[in-house]
Amino acid sequence: MKGVVFNILEEMVIEGYGMDAWNDILDQAQQSTGIFIAFESYPDEQLFELVGIICEKLNQPAEIIVRAFGEFLFSKLSERYHNFIEDHDNLDSFLKSIHSVIHVEVAKLYVDPNLPTIECFDNPDGTMTLRYRSPRKLCILAEGLIYGAAKEYKQDISLTHDVCMHKGSEFCDIVVSYK
Ligand code: ZN
Repeated sequence: MKGVVFNILEEMVIEGYGMDAWNDILDQAQQSTGIFIAFESYPDEQLFELVGIICEKLNQPAEIIVRAFGEFLFSKLSERYHNFIEDHDNLDSFLKSIHSVIHVEVAKLYVDPNLPTIECFDNPDGTMTLRYRSPRKLCILAEGLIYGAAKEYKQDISLTHDVCMHKGSEFCDIVVSYK
């Protein structure tokens, strides 16, 4: 995972709980450094360890923390890369551009970013299915990112996620209902 993701996790903890809380988390982690460079890659396990410690400290399940982090991550990435938001009038158009446009641009900025594969399908009932594939199986983070994007476009949505890699499927289908 790129250092920028660690940087934003740090921001979330410091904004919510202060610098001491972040230092406590780093102290508890079996990691040699708490300094992450945005464009460098760090093992996923390091991020998962930090998230695990946060879950323990807040006494919350990983799903809640990871989804909240996805939403926060989106808001911070959109501050850094606002042009991707400005290029689209609405959430649906934005989500459909993730794979063909945004991930292509991200791959130019970050060497070997290890991104998931995303496909989008319109459904007859007006919902949109975002099909997520990644060996990391971070579909809950993807949910949080989608909620973050919806907030950015001031669009009310709900998600269903019945087809999931964590339930034995080869991919996750995250179905977006626009309200
Ligand atoms: Zn899933």
